[in-house]
Amino acid sequence: MSGLVIRNLHAGIDGKEILKGVNLIVPQGEIHAIMGPNGTGKSTLAYVLMGHPAYEVTGGEVIFKDINVLELEPDQRSRLGMFLAFQYPVAIPGVTVANFLRTALNSRRKAQNPADKGIPIPEFRRLLKEKMELLRMDTSFAGRYLNDGFSGGEKKRVEILQMAVLQPQFAVLDETDSGLDIDALRVVSEGVNALRNPDLGVLVITHYQRILNYIHPDVVHVMVDGQIAETGGPDLALHLEEHGYDWVREKMETAAS
Ligand code: ADP
Ligand code: MG
Repeated sequence: MSGLVIRNLHAGIDGKEILKGVNLIVPQGEIHAIMGPNGTGKSTLAYVLMGHPAYEVTGGEVIFKDINVLELEPDQRSRLGMFLAFQYPVAIPGVTVANFLRTALNSRRKAQNPADKGIPIPEFRRLLKEKMELLRMDTSFAGRYLNDGFSGGEKKRVEILQMAVLQPQFAVLDETDSGLDIDALRVVSEGVNALRNPDLGVLVITHYQRILNYIHPDVVHVMVDGQIAETGGPDLALHLEEHGYDWVREKMETAAS
């Protein structure tokens, strides 16, 4: 099938197992959310999908376009059409948002076709303008220095704009729990909603239930203790908001005993 398929994924760090057999399918065209209590391995899953070298995969596979991407370097995953947030350096003084995005796009194009001479500047300007309009961003933003004094929300805006420009077929967005205000959550959510298309699968990882006031996932998964413990529709998020995560954990423990 097309999309991203995670099968029995085991991974850890410093000899400690964190992901204990994750099974998950994100079909093309769908937005899936992973929620769960702190410390259950959500960010670890994002890092493993990105190919972060600190994490050791001890079992399972992640199939995208018929390839086990766990065998690929991070840049090869990107070339294949995976967008992994935080894969690019964050603070580049003296480089504008527009230049940063053009460089990112050109390196992607060059990786796909070594003879590529880069996107012509007028064409890039049109593309950037179109994407900024789609994301309802002020055009002056493109001329600002990357992440220079950017708020949490503005950094997220660049990330989403980067995704819009690179047009991946699969994206993982991890909303780490620190320092993200409601503005940043809203930016990510609205951006993801605007970029939704039949060729794009998205995995939004979040601790916050409130993000689901903005984003419209097709499927919600709950991760507990390194496994996907529960999967449901958007109503599952509402249920979690009301009842918390304890019942998911209890259900998992009952099933295991
Ligand atoms: P979540 O994103 O769901 O809050 P994480 O994936 O960040 O969870 O963390 C899962 C577990 O892995 C936690 O118990 C955490 O303490 C542990 N962990 C994360 N990073 C490291 C690390 N660098 N070294 C050791 N343990 C880590
Ligand atoms: Mg996390």
